[in-house]
Amino acid sequence: MPDLVVHHLSKSYPTPAEPLVVLDGVELELSRGESLAVVGPSGSGKSTLLAILGALDEPTSGSVQIGGVDPFSLSERQQARFRAKSIGFVFQDHYLLPQCTVLENVLAPLLSDGKATSEDADRAAELLRRVGLGERLTHRPAQLSGGERQRAAIARALVRDPLLLLADEPTGALDGRNADAVADVLLSIQSEREGMLIAATHSPEFAARMGRTARLCEGQLLS
Ligand code: ADP
Ligand code: MG
Repeated sequence: MPDLVVHHLSKSYPTPAEPLVVLDGVELELSRGESLAVVGPSGSGKSTLLAILGALDEPTSGSVQIGGVDPFSLSERQQARFRAKSIGFVFQDHYLLPQCTVLENVLAPLLSDGKATSEDADRAAELLRRVGLGERLTHRPAQLSGGERQRAAIARALVRDPLLLLADEPTGALDGRNADAVADVLLSIQSEREGMLIAATHSPEFAARMGRTARLCEGQLLS
């Protein structure tokens, strides 16, 4: 069985008139090690889909199974634990904690289990080296360039080696050179990972470097 199975997933938002149907029967299967680019015009539902796959939002109907788990069948507490362990997020904006150093930001996802160990700190520092920030461990986010901040956000999303890494337009706020550097880092780490990567993107170059591409069109995901 694939590690991600999405079946007949629909999402609509209530409005004063007709409900706004954003996703209308999305089908998707993905296995460990695979990467998928989700493309489609602005407003086609890419962010909505990623938010549901990451259990940040609920579907209106349909089912999602991630590593055999339906996150929407879990209690709120179990769901939060599942999300922390199995899902990583990279957004267009980095959402780093401004008061914390780069290293502390990358360690933050491990603190939900209690204290970070010295092995955790080693792993975080190694990941930061991997994304080219080995010399920036004690910088604060404001002291980094936009591309560096986004690479720190990637290290943070990967620190627990999630089964499913979700990236919503991770290069969307960057200029060409920095966008390329972020894509390089993401794809090179992904190629060594067992987990899955799904990235929403407007960049044809980035999409072409992912294993598969699917397009959101009228609420459906077309291969
Ligand atoms: P994309 O990421 O492809 O640009 P989104 O998933 O952000 O698209 O949005 C898809 C559609 O859903 C848009 O028309 C947007 O206005 C609408 N939408 C998104 N979130 C909400 C919400 N919380 N309430 C109502 N409508 C929403
Ligand atoms: Mg979006």
